Amino acid sequence: AKRMGRNQFVIFDATLRNIAITNKKVADELLAALEDDQFEVFYQPQISARTLEIQGVEALVRWRHPTRGQLAPSHFIGTAETTGSIARIDAVVLKKASAQFQAWRQDGIALPHISVNISAQRLIDPALLQSIAESQLDPGQLCIELLESISFDDQDTSLETAVSAIKSLGVDVEIDDFGTGYASILSLLSLSPKRLKIDRQLVLPITTGQSQRRLVASIVEIGKALGIEVIAEGVETAEHVRILRELGVDSFQGYFFAPPLSGNALESFVRERGWF
Ligand code: C2E
Ligand code: CA
Ligand code: CA
Ligand code: CA
Repeated sequence: AKRMGRNQFVIFDATLRNIAITNKKVADELLAALEDDQFEVFYQPQISARTLEIQGVEALVRWRHPTRGQLAPSHFIGTAETTGSIARIDAVVLKKASAQFQAWRQDGIALPHISVNISAQRLIDPALLQSIAESQLDPGQLCIELLESISFDDQDTSLETAVSAIKSLGVDVEIDDFGTGYASILSLLSLSPKRLKIDRQLVLPITTGQSQRRLVASIVEIGKALGIEVIAEGVETAEHVRILRELGVDSFQGYFFAPPLSGNALESFVRERGWF
């Protein structure tokens, strides 16, 4: 048994070493990619439940890798977070997204807002306020989606301070992936975000039963009680749309309406529908 244990340890150790080597490789590649401007931004429409028209877009990063093609965030965000390059990636996304938003406006596509994802660890970074100030967006046009993957501890006043600093710039804050991570109902009171986004793990199963629907209904109730808008992600079918409208969700995002699109594709998408 001892021997087996040692073998297992050796295997485990080798696995860990391989992970470490892979991470180091990706980390180096991420830095090179930043230098070489390989990050692109895609945009997914957010649709008003009331008008069924576009009310904004969420900016989602893509890595145009020289040999592996276009990579989704799941391939690199984790490493970027642990190695610290996430701050620079988020800054690039914010810069490109705000430039695109302005360019659309000049082409007559006046979207009400654009949402950008910021890793919560970066929220307490003063350079973020700098990049927001440099983004040249008007108050109310920019929304920061805060992922609840790190704990929104009610003792952690630094997060609260950071959120109020961002809000004082006229930027809206949204709690992302609500209902599956750390963000508590209490954090809604202390952070008072403009919007909360119901995670798709809660949205997808609403077609399967009453309790799944009631769960979403109660999140909508909480939003209403606190004056916080509610958006649902992972809206994939007409059935989802019908039920979510009945439940009083304010807006939708998901493949039923559109996947994340390049800047040009988003422009065609809104023009084809005669929205602008
Ligand atoms: P998220 O913020 O929850 O973004 C929504 C994800 O769901 C996107 O994946 C989107 O493509 C996908 N999605 C959209 N509609 C549907 C649908 O109807 N069904 C299903 N099953 N999925 C849908 P994506 O683009 O791969 O992004 C994954 C995550 O990476 C994001 O999750 C976000 O947490 C993170 N991320 C993306 N861009 C950035 C960024 O610029 N900075 C940071 N820090 N994180 C980012
Ligand atoms: Ca998001
Ligand atoms: Ca989300
Ligand atoms: Ca999610």
